Amino acid sequence: MIKDFEYFGPKTLNEALVLLDKYRDDYKIIAGGQSLIILLRQGLLQPENVIDIYGIKELDYIKSDGKKGLKIGALTTHREIEYSDLMKGSFKVLSEMEHLLSTPQTRNRGTIGGNISHGDPAGDPAPVLMALGANVKLASVAGERILDMEKFSVDYFETAMEHGEMLVEIELPAPPPHTGAAYTKFNIIASDMATVSVASCVTLAADDTCTDVRIALGAAAPRPMRAKAAEAILKGKKITDALLKKAGQAASEEAEPVSDISASEEYRRELVKVLTARVTKEAMSRAKAG
Ligand SMILES: Cc1cc2nc3c(=O)[nH]c(=O)nc-3n(C[C@H](O)[C@H](O)[C@H](O)COP(=O)(O)OP(=O)(O)OC[C@H]3O[C@@H](n4cnc5c(N)ncnc54)[C@H](O)[C@@H]3O)c2cc1C
Repeated sequence: MIKDFEYFGPKTLNEALVLLDKYRDDYKIIAGGQSLIILLRQGLLQPENVIDIYGIKELDYIKSDGKKGLKIGALTTHREIEYSDLMKGSFKVLSEMEHLLSTPQTRNRGTIGGNISHGDPAGDPAPVLMALGANVKLASVAGERILDMEKFSVDYFETAMEHGEMLVEIELPAPPPHTGAAYTKFNIIASDMATVSVASCVTLAADDTCTDVRIALGAAAPRPMRAKAAEAILKGKKITDALLKKAGQAASEEAEPVSDISASEEYRRELVKVLTARVTKEAMSRAKAG
């Protein structure tokens, strides 16, 4: 049963930030409620105050900033991203990722900001955002700060957000020419959370040398993580199947998976190995076509 709480429904960001500051000792933000309601119903969270930000329309947007990249408001739903015309080129991977996230019902209501603020290491958006080099914008009554997505994810269900802060925007830099990105997740039930997921973003020079690569793993550590040893194997080289195999092996060694009800640690390492090579190959072929 959900314990009684005081409910607040701010309609502007400013009103919300004032409430977060006023009730900073005991509040919970609710957006689409797709993750929070479960925790409230299980009694795992019993906040005195619930601040419902779903009605703050100014945080529901996707903007293309030309050469600067893409900005996504925290209250943009998964479904809006899935069907946005702005998901083109290497940003197409965002729409593809959303298509793999749960069911249309959850995607209709759940927000991208709620998803990454929840901090589930198996969440779909975080690895893709990391591979694309995203930053997040956090706001409080004291002002705003920008954090690299890599620094935002801290541990199991833990982010770098301080009390009194909320996530307001995700910023994605414009990718250089000949950049391709791809994402896949392995799960037993199609609409379920990832057993392991991998996102990869590759940039190639005119002669197909890999000038940049970012590989990010989901459900393979207590937080979504970059596979930097795997990236180092590929960067500065012409990517071959043999190098992809080595990169997959390196990623499986640097991953920090646990055994749980979905899969053993060994099985997850094997998935990381296979999916890293497969997804990076796909990202490379998209970079060549782009
Ligand atoms: C049946 C089902 C299946 C699911 N399958 C998947 C899946 O396959 N992949 C996947 O990634 N997710 C999955 N999810 C999780 C869910 O889709 C996401 O976590 C959802 O997007 C959360 O967004 P929300 O707006 O509903 O957040 P809420 O549930 O409202 O909030 C989640 C958390 O984030 C905090 N929060 C919300 N917005 C902000 C903000 N702007 N700033 C600061 N804190 C904030 C809340 O306080 C809370 O702690 C599934 C959920 C369900 C119910």
